[in-house]
Parts: sequence; structure tokens; C-alpha cells
Amino acid sequence: MIKAVFIDIDGTLLDFEACVEESMRVGLTENKIEYKPEMLETFHRINDVFWRDLEQGKITFEELLERRWATVFEALEIDLNGPEFETYFRKRLHESAIPMEGSYETLEYLSGKYRLFAASNGPHEQQIERLRKADMLKYFEDVFTSGKIGAEKPAKEFFEYCFEKAADIKPEESTMLGDSLTSDMKGGNDFGMKTIWLNLNGKEKPEWVDFEIKSLDEIKNII
Ligand SMILES: [Mg+2]
Repeated sequence: MIKAVFIDIDGTLLDFEACVEESMRVGLTENKIEYKPEMLETFHRINDVFWRDLEQGKITFEELLERRWATVFEALEIDLNGPEFETYFRKRLHESAIPMEGSYETLEYLSGKYRLFAASNGPHEQQIERLRKADMLKYFEDVFTSGKIGAEKPAKEFFEYCFEKAADIKPEESTMLGDSLTSDMKGGNDFGMKTIWLNLNGKEKPEWVDFEIKSLDEIKNII
């Protein structure tokens, strides 16, 4: 019997894509660089590699922050200071909270049936602030972030911390809902939680993932 739902934040409740696009576009424009949509693709290509390396424990979060924009600017042949832009970019993201389609309805529905916890790979204060700004913080009993825990999903240390805090809930009585196979689904599955994958890009569901949904409103059909 499911008692609790752990919910990823970015790409699941908040439209991180839209927040990133806005922050990059405004930041470059303020630096008198003409923004082109293909620049966003370059950012994503490089950013994905950094996040994968982070999830696999190959680099630290600090190294990611130090290097990712420098790498992007090098690829784009833009003459801007990477770490300085990182500071600006994160400040903008900190203030950016664009909801995903159906997120409020889903939180209303789930909060009526289950205890809800946020589970996010990201800086703690930033994620709290963005949830507050989106008026979503009120739905959560607790907000678990890698920034506070010191370990990223899918690491078992992340989930150990969650279930130490939510000590009256067992992993098998909980569901991990998120958009990432490598962090949310792998982490939840490895720890013995049920998994619900928000599969927005029509990828094939691995058989070890329990359920997939194509949009948040489909969750009512599952739990
Ligand atoms: Mg996500």
C-alpha cells in the first residue's frame, strides 16, 4: 500500500527547460550577445554531459559550476567569463519558477491521498525558493535536495537520508515520480521504491520501471 509520493522538481513540476531558456537568453542579451535558439542546444548538449558525470560521481557540483559555462562559451566562441556567467545564471534560475503543464492539478490530487516529499538534485535554498514562488511548497511535508544531503540521486545515500527523515515510511510504501531515468527512476528502483516515469519525449520504457505516464494528469490512472 502506497503511503507517500516523492516528486522530482525540475522537468516534473517546474518547467526547467523554460527557466533555462529564459535565463540564458536574458543573460546573453544583457551582455550584448545576440541570442540564437541553437545556442540553447549547445548548452544542453554540454550540460547533459556534466550532469551525467555528476550523477556518476566523476565530478563534484562545484566543478560543474566552475566549468560548464566556460565549456559552452568555448564551443560557441563567445568571449565571456564562464564562472561569472554561472553566478548570474544561477541567480536568474533561483528566481525562475515556470510550472509544468498539469502540475497544480497533480499536486492537489496527490496531496489529497498521499504524503508528499520533494526529491531534487539541486541547491537547497534555490529549490525551496522556487517551490515557494510557484506556490507549491505548501504541498510538501519535506523537501529533500542533493544540496543539503551531499549526495545526488540515484546514489543510495540520497534515499537513505530521505527515509531516515521520513522514518515511518518504508521504501516499498512509496513511489518515486520523476522525468529522469538515470536519477529518479534508477535511484528509486535501486532503493526498493515503486517508480513512475514522466516520459515526455516518447522514449521506450525500460522494463524495470514500474509505470510510465506521458503527461502528469495520467497519474490518476496509476495511483
Ligand atoms: Mg527532473
